[in-house]
Amino acid sequence: MKKWFFLPLLCAALLCGCVREPSAQERSAQVFAMDTMMDITVYADDAAAAESALSAAEAEIHRLDGLLSRHDEASAVAAVNASSGAPVAVDEEVLSLLETAVSYSAQTGDAFDITVAPIMDAWNFTGDAPRVPSREELDALLVHVGDERIVFGDGTVTLEPGMAVDLGGIAKGYASDRLAAVFEEQGIDSAMVSLGGNVYVRGAKPDGSPWRVAVEDPNDPGAYLGVLSLTDAYAITSGGYQRYFEQDGVVYYHIIDPKTGDVARSGLTSATVICTNGTMGDALSTALFVMGYDRAVEFWKTYETDFDMILMDEDGTVYLTEGLKDRFDPSAAEHDYEYVYLSKN
Ligand code: AMP
Ligand code: MG
Repeated sequence: MKKWFFLPLLCAALLCGCVREPSAQERSAQVFAMDTMMDITVYADDAAAAESALSAAEAEIHRLDGLLSRHDEASAVAAVNASSGAPVAVDEEVLSLLETAVSYSAQTGDAFDITVAPIMDAWNFTGDAPRVPSREELDALLVHVGDERIVFGDGTVTLEPGMAVDLGGIAKGYASDRLAAVFEEQGIDSAMVSLGGNVYVRGAKPDGSPWRVAVEDPNDPGAYLGVLSLTDAYAITSGGYQRYFEQDGVVYYHIIDPKTGDVARSGLTSATVICTNGTMGDALSTALFVMGYDRAVEFWKTYETDFDMILMDEDGTVYLTEGLKDRFDPSAAEHDYEYVYLSKN
């Protein structure tokens, strides 16, 4: 018996509970894009400014979806995936995002690799009939995985026949960075967006207090591990509970170990990155999930850019980096977990 679940990616749901300045105008929208439900809320001094920012944000999300979705035949990424050994002309934005994605692969010891696309297709997590590919099938597909083989030319990208890229692990983080730029252009100082497991909060709440961002409990989606108090930050979560199917009592989820082609069973049930760059946070949360606790902690200690993280392991321990000590409140947790703070020394 095969069961297929698609959870609306509620991860890190926002606990708004805002006490607003009477003058601040709030406008919100829900957008379905990039295969997930997205929530956007902006505050401005007047209604027209809030509405203008909201429609600019929505337009930007749809623009990016049309550019980056590999399942949309008209997208730039679909064109790259049709390369089959011939150079494909790509605009600067997509070229630069592909190069950025490849750089995260190098930095994470290949835990993050956008060329897992053929493997994702074999599992078919997003289709009507997800399935468990055989070892032989995965081994045959692994030949096409390895983003160091993507050839970047002057305004072109070339993929070998059989290779394809999937930006699902980084596109929402990039979108949150783009929304930050849209809000900047629109003069918006206070906003929050939740793009699936990717939360971005701009400035503080209109009353000056930090945003409260709940981190979802991977063992009980809908319940929380705790609540982060954040201003001008991204909180990005990767977890097996976000998209999965079950077959013969085994749960298979959408984060893949690029070395094996198999579901990444690293001992972690979720990895959240708290940082000031959405693209980085998205790539790293996926990578940390693949790495597992030991490699993830080593990576956090040595990575060139500071970030904070929350890792939950299968034994029910929640590990948090020291920078979150004053920014994380576990009292909203519904289950009794052990919370352990990690320091760099
Ligand atoms: P995220 O929710 O950001 O962790 O991204 C998961 C999505 O990224 C999957 O649905 C795939 O589209 C893609 N993906 C899965 N495994 C990897 C990986 N190891 N590296 C890069 N992208 C991946
Ligand atoms: Mg990611």
